[in-house]
Amino acid sequence: MATPLSARSFLDALRDEGVTVVEVGDWEHHNRNHKGPWGPVHGIVVHHTVTTGSTATVAICRTGHAALPGPLCHGVITKDGRVHLVGYGRANHAGLGDDDVLRAVIAETSPPADNEANTDGNRVFYGFECENLGDGADRWPAAQVEAIVRVCAALCRAHGWSVRSVIRHLDWQPGKVDPRGPGMDWADVQAKVAKRLGAKPPGTPLPLPQAPKVSVSQLAAAARKDPKAAGTPVSYAGTRTVEAALVDAGLLSKPLLDGHFGTATVKAYAAWQRRCGYSGAAADGIPGKSSLSKLGAAHGFTVTS
Ligand SMILES: [Zn+2]
Repeated sequence: MATPLSARSFLDALRDEGVTVVEVGDWEHHNRNHKGPWGPVHGIVVHHTVTTGSTATVAICRTGHAALPGPLCHGVITKDGRVHLVGYGRANHAGLGDDDVLRAVIAETSPPADNEANTDGNRVFYGFECENLGDGADRWPAAQVEAIVRVCAALCRAHGWSVRSVIRHLDWQPGKVDPRGPGMDWADVQAKVAKRLGAKPPGTPLPLPQAPKVSVSQLAAAARKDPKAAGTPVSYAGTRTVEAALVDAGLLSKPLLDGHFGTATVKAYAAWQRRCGYSGAAADGIPGKSSLSKLGAAHGFTVTS
């Protein structure tokens, strides 16, 4: 859960991630907030527009149409990789989706198949519409995919979310197929977002282990897991013990205790390393024996190799 970024912080986050942003009209105040709530936000939904031509696509997404007034998203990602900001606040992009999927996004676990349309997605998701015909033949250029990756990484970074907070419209709403087409490899997008965030794609949380023993080599391997291995479990049971210690040390917020050594845990661990006197590459958030032993001594677990 998170309060939506201010429009200014949203813009800064995108620019800081190297996104080429085009501000369209009074985007900061163009929204559907008079029709329903906006926030707390829990994630990001990626769409395709079923349109062609950048100018027309941006105009449609800003204005919408009689049956579905705009804005139809926050940003329009055109084929040239530019991100056109058309609105900010509640936007008509996600519609009604599956509450089980929303719960998975909040918990940052793998989403189940969407089979219900019972939950207002426009309240809880940032939305990006991508220029593509959606016919399964229209190719996604590399520059456009890179912009998607950066936009998602920017917002995940700003909120402390992992890549599991990013979904496709097809993951959210039954009957939707977007985004799809040649060049749109979702596992690759997820891996690239995770890589930008300095983490591997998160896996399924494991139950809390009873034995307070942590293997430094297994933990470091979990923290360094190859981002290309999307969808595979990356948790090592000891991660929960270490996360609990980081929560206890005041370095990790409790809702982030989830059993995978994701972005937030690496960040919290790096803070622990700095507290131990390390800096630079020695405080990269990848556990080493010395810092881990100190954490264990303070928080009741023993360290094995
Ligand atoms: Zn869509």
